[in-house]
Amino acid sequence: MKSPVEQTLPEIGTKKRLAVFKFASCDGCQLSLLDCEDELLAVADAVEIAYFLEATSRIAPGPYDVALVEGSITTPYDAERIQEVRRQASYLVTIGACATSGGIQSLKNWADHEDFLRCVYARPDYISTLETSTAIADHVAVDFELRGCPINRYQLIDVLKSLIAGRRPRTPSHSVCLDCKRRATVCVEVAQGLPCLGPVTHTGCGAICPAYDRGCYGCFGPAAQPNCDSLVAQYLDTGSTHEDLIPLLHNFNADAPEFRDAGNQIRQSAGLSTTGGRP
Ligand code: SF4
Ligand code: SF4
Repeated sequence: MKSPVEQTLPEIGTKKRLAVFKFASCDGCQLSLLDCEDELLAVADAVEIAYFLEATSRIAPGPYDVALVEGSITTPYDAERIQEVRRQASYLVTIGACATSGGIQSLKNWADHEDFLRCVYARPDYISTLETSTAIADHVAVDFELRGCPINRYQLIDVLKSLIAGRRPRTPSHSVCLDCKRRATVCVEVAQGLPCLGPVTHTGCGAICPAYDRGCYGCFGPAAQPNCDSLVAQYLDTGSTHEDLIPLLHNFNADAPEFRDAGNQIRQSAGLSTTGGRP
């Protein structure tokens, strides 16, 4: 169920009922939506905000035409709740690295979950949580995924405009390298030998990190058809170590299959666990 499966598009011409749901996340992607301000005015007449607790305590019951879902699944309660969100939503869009790839919290997928509980909570026995953090698409069908940590608000508005117009949303899926070329940034991999995830990372950030002389660390997740194996082999050949590459791949989008598998191969070759001790 990992790939988005598009359902019926919302009907054209009617005011769309929009709901925004939060799961395990930092709220940054919802804030990107709130930050839109002027851009939101362009769609305000065509949308009724029916459920958006970050913005208003007014709650209108479902069903909803479009549900935006932020955050990953980390508790048994949320694993149930997302099923109800799916039932209520005609078109479900996941927003951000947490929702599309498990988020930074999916680093616990490679660690002993009980250790984390003991470190963080005075009474871990009060906490009900799953051993892993997983993407929304691992639990329900998702119609469209919008990547990034946080998302690009212009891409979000574009997705909403498409749905209002009854069109399938489309966002570019090329790699960050193309954006570097467009802004004439000197390649940090070629010029400085820094490991950079740009060749396998989805566009959306505007290639900010290379413009500030550091390698991309993949916050928009995998680009279309990323060749992670080849990139990792190249970096290992040119002096990067396991210690450099594992945190690069197992990061904000650690549980995205392409980054997860490439990072796991390096972990295996370094004799590290790929499951956090789980069978
Ligand atoms: S994807 Fe990043 S910004 Fe968005 S909710 Fe998750 S941690 Fe926050
Ligand atoms: S700096 Fe990174 S993203 Fe930019 S062109 Fe070089 S490898 Fe690609």
